[in-house]
Amino acid sequence: MPLSLPIKDKFILPDGMIYLDGNSLGPLPKGVQQRLSDVVTDQWGQHLIKGWNVDDWMGLPMSVGNKVARLIGAPEGSVTMGDTLSIKVFQALASALKMRPDRKVILSDSGNFPSDLYMAQGLISHMDQGHELRIVEPEDVASAITYDTAAVMLTQVDYRTGRMHDLHHITQQARDAGAVMIWDLAHSAGAVPVDLQSSGCEFAVGCTYKYLNGGPGAPAFIYVRPDVVSDLSPVLSGWLGHDAPFAFEPTYRPAPDIERMRVGTPSVLQLAALDAALSVWEDVDMNDLRAASLRLSDLFIEQVQQRCPQLTLASPRNGGQRGSQVSFHFDHGYAVIQALIARNVIGDFRAPDIMRFGITPLYLDEDDICDAVGHLADVLDNREWDKPEFRKPKGVT
Ligand SMILES: *Cc1c(COP(=O)(O)O)cnc(C)c1O
Repeated sequence: MPLSLPIKDKFILPDGMIYLDGNSLGPLPKGVQQRLSDVVTDQWGQHLIKGWNVDDWMGLPMSVGNKVARLIGAPEGSVTMGDTLSIKVFQALASALKMRPDRKVILSDSGNFPSDLYMAQGLISHMDQGHELRIVEPEDVASAITYDTAAVMLTQVDYRTGRMHDLHHITQQARDAGAVMIWDLAHSAGAVPVDLQSSGCEFAVGCTYKYLNGGPGAPAFIYVRPDVVSDLSPVLSGWLGHDAPFAFEPTYRPAPDIERMRVGTPSVLQLAALDAALSVWEDVDMNDLRAASLRLSDLFIEQVQQRCPQLTLASPRNGGQRGSQVSFHFDHGYAVIQALIARNVIGDFRAPDIMRFGITPLYLDEDDICDAVGHLADVLDNREWDKPEFRKPKGVT
């Protein structure tokens, strides 16, 4: 039986806080503290180095990867965990370019997250083979895929506007043109239903500290389509991607499967936290989640449009084209978000003028949405944001 949403009792949420930032850092699921305490006290504390075997620390990237795989429509054994998303982007892109040595264009869009673009720029400069990063508007991606495109590298849901690409359509366009498709699912995994397997894309990557609630610094994931993995030559050829790490051979020989995308020692504590955090998804139906997300997001948009005419919607009005966040433009957006945070309503700000609200139906309901809009309207109507302490930028927005 799928659980009916929300399932607030599965999370530790501070009293009185309305948390609209689960798209940036998910809250703490119950069970994580106990798991971490067990792993630290019983495993690390008592087993020490034996933990790699008796507690199967070495198998965590695979077992946790399989749990993530279920949430993104990927088959067993096609996802592994580790490192940060930026690293996984680099690995996927480097492999993709090697798959298409005669093509020099990496196609991405202006809505992509800067780190993905930066990693591409660094890789291009390192390879020094005349590759070009071509950045087009999100609406123009499908028509910009050409026969010189080596890889199409996109984040499905735009981190600022929440605009969502049609993953299947663009993947098909890429495949028709012979380009390799890389999806970044940072704002999709745990937010919208994803069916990687039927899409046919070669690579997908994502992080787990956003909608998957794995905690700050939780490891990233990478998916490689099973029929191409054995032909990839990993550019980050670390020992744990080797076919036999404990043979300590002098020459790199990649593991036959997705394990070749592993690099070094897994972050056991973070993986254990993530593993426990993923338990909340066990009886969640992703289609129910999506329906609730759209219902809450539409309510949020309607309420804001009625009560806060100062704001301009930055997200698509049509839910089918939106991920699980809603954003608004406002010149003083940064200060408004700070004033909301002072009222215990947590959203965030993205330069230049975007106020961003994550709509996460696991722990938000209609009352939270209406209360949040009430606070937002008060902050705007009373110009509560117009105070020096709210205008002063902090290091992390
Ligand atoms: C959050 C996010 C990142 C962050 O990368 P890290 O290496 O985990 O810091 C990268 N790309 C996208 C698209 C993101 O949304």
